Amino acid sequence: NEKIRRIDSATDKARAREKDSERLKVEENVFDVPTLKVLYTLSNKGIIKALGGSISTGKEANVFYAEGENRELAIKIYRMASSTFKAMDAYIMKDPRFTNIRNNRRDIIFAWTRKEFQNLTRAKSAGIRVPEPLVAEKNILIMEFMGEERVPYPLLKNTHLENEEAKLVYDKIVEYMHLLNKEANLVHADLSEYNILIDPADKTPVFIDMGQSVTLEHPNAREFLYRDVLNILRFFSRYGITDKPEDLLSKIQAE
Ligand code: ADP
Ligand code: MN
Repeated sequence: NEKIRRIDSATDKARAREKDSERLKVEENVFDVPTLKVLYTLSNKGIIKALGGSISTGKEANVFYAEGENRELAIKIYRMASSTFKAMDAYIMKDPRFTNIRNNRRDIIFAWTRKEFQNLTRAKSAGIRVPEPLVAEKNILIMEFMGEERVPYPLLKNTHLENEEAKLVYDKIVEYMHLLNKEANLVHADLSEYNILIDPADKTPVFIDMGQSVTLEHPNAREFLYRDVLNILRFFSRYGITDKPEDLLSKIQAE
C-alpha cells in the first residue's frame, strides 16, 4: 500500500512537472519576437502603461491584465504557434468579410484578431454589453477590462445565482442573442457559461470571446446558432428554465 502511494505521488509530481514545462512552453510561445515588438510599439504610443499578470491561457490565446492611459485593459494575444489555427479556417474563409485572406497561419491569425475586434464593435453598437475593443494590431487585441481593480468579473459558470436572479440573467442573455442576431447580423458561435461574464454589482451578463462569431450569411450560421441555443438551455435548465430550443430560437429571431 505504502509502495502504491509512493508511486502515485511520484506520478503526480511527474505530471506536475510536465504541466509546468507545458506552461513555460506556452509563455515562450506567446511572447515571440514579433509579438514583443508590437507590445513595445503599443507601449511607446502610451496605449499600454504597464503589462500585468496573466488572466487566462486558452487554446489559441492568452489574456493579460494591463494598465492603460487612465483605464484598466485586457490584452488578448493570439499565439502565432497556436496548433488549432487550422480550425480557424472553417470560420474565417467562408465569412464574406474575409474571403481574400491568404491561406497561411500568419494572415489567418491576424484576420482572426481583426474579426474579433469587428465583432465586438458590431455587438457593442447593437446594445450588447461586451468589452469595448480599442486596438487590433497583428495578433494582439486590446479591449476594455471587464472587472474592477485588477479582478476580472467571474464567468457565468462560476457565479452563484438564486433562481430568481438566474431567470433575469437568462432573459438578458436572450435579449442579447436577439440583438446580436437582428441588429448585429451575427451569431456568437461559442456562447456558453464559459464565454459570459457576470458583473457582480448588478448581475448583468457580458458576452466575450467573439473571434469565431460569424455573420448570418455564413453557411454554418444556423448550425452555430442552434449549438449556442442548446448550450444556454443546458446551463439554465438547472435553474428551472424550461424553454425548448424552438422557444428560444423564436425569441432570438422575433422581429
Ligand atoms: P479564449 O479563446 O481563450 O477562451 P476568451 O476571450 O474567452 O479567450 O478569454 C479567456 C478568459 O479571459 C475569459 O474566460 C475571461 O476570464 C478573461 N477575459 C477575456 N476578456 C476579458 C476582458 N475584456 N476583461 C476581463 N477578463 C477577460
Ligand atoms: Mn473563451
